[in-house]
Amino acid sequence: MPEMTIYGIIPGSPSDSGKGYPTPDDAARAALSEIDTRSVEDKSEYAGNVYQKSDGSYTFSPPARGTDRTSRAEDSQVPKGVKVVATYHSHGGEFAVSDELFSPTDKIKATFGHNDGYLITPRGDMYKYLPVDHVPPAAQNEFAGGLVVRLN
Ligand SMILES: [Zn+2]
Repeated sequence: MPEMTIYGIIPGSPSDSGKGYPTPDDAARAALSEIDTRSVEDKSEYAGNVYQKSDGSYTFSPPARGTDRTSRAEDSQVPKGVKVVATYHSHGGEFAVSDELFSPTDKIKATFGHNDGYLITPRGDMYKYLPVDHVPPAAQNEFAGGLVVRLN
């Protein structure tokens, strides 16, 4: 059978997407754990959104596959009317030094989207990026370029 490369949502792949978690960080950790192995094996980025459900809990939209260099959370749809609070994505697996960090583009997207960004690197490290307007006001001068927090 010929091999196919599918971008976007992988049909039939099991996911905890939709399951409720108490905080956005918990939902993001679940999403990032889910795409960790897949990203490295496929050498592809995966991305999606973290959103609040109507019951107040948080969850994530199904991971959408990107390319080896890019991914788009917009390719992973959320239910109508929910509030997206963050995006998540993986860095796919060249194991380059730059794969272990948020890229400048990642930070720009989060800043203009006014959403936190979550990242899992090829080594399995999880990070959260807070754009400057999500940094506590007293620390905004010090972290004018935003703030990166290690999650695991
Ligand atoms: Zn990135």
